[in-house]
Amino acid sequence: MAYDNNSQKIVDYIQNFARKHSLFVLAYGTGCGAIEIPPTMTSRYDAERFGIRGAATPRQADVLLITGYLATKTLKRVIRTYEQMQDPKYVIAFGSCTINGGMYWDSYNTINMLDKYIPVDVYINGCMPRPEAVISGFVKLQDEIQAGRADGWKKYQDNLEEYRANQKKIIKNWTMPDFNW
Ligand code: SF4
Repeated sequence: MAYDNNSQKIVDYIQNFARKHSLFVLAYGTGCGAIEIPPTMTSRYDAERFGIRGAATPRQADVLLITGYLATKTLKRVIRTYEQMQDPKYVIAFGSCTINGGMYWDSYNTINMLDKYIPVDVYINGCMPRPEAVISGFVKLQDEIQAGRADGWKKYQDNLEEYRANQKKIIKNWTMPDFNW
């Protein structure tokens, strides 16, 4: 259905409002930061009051949460998982290791900057971030969704060749199909 400009803005507002209050999260516990997820999701911090809850599979998830350093071997699975998620989808990267490698910056088998390989909508810094920081990262993502700026998934489609080139540079035994969706 085609809408005029004002109606389109109202539709976008309602869609984004619904999306930001219903975030199903696939927590990919790659690093030590994963230990902060249980307190964030359970009664003490109760992330569900913000509409944030766990998803069982990539197909049901809106948010991919990467919780720390990533071995190149794990990166391959993360890419496959990300590509299996439905659009619109968002990525939150958690801890210094996802931003610049953190204490593993010169390791031979971990990556330094996650957003060279998949788009990251929100980074939460710290080593490791506490549940308050995790919740504040989710609130930042909700703000970005409402403002229509959480568009990493579109950037991934538009710049797929560049992402693939970076991914294949570091993953030597690339045995996945080139398109996973
Ligand atoms: S940022 Fe710190 S807590 Fe997080 S994965 Fe790296 S070393 Fe572990």
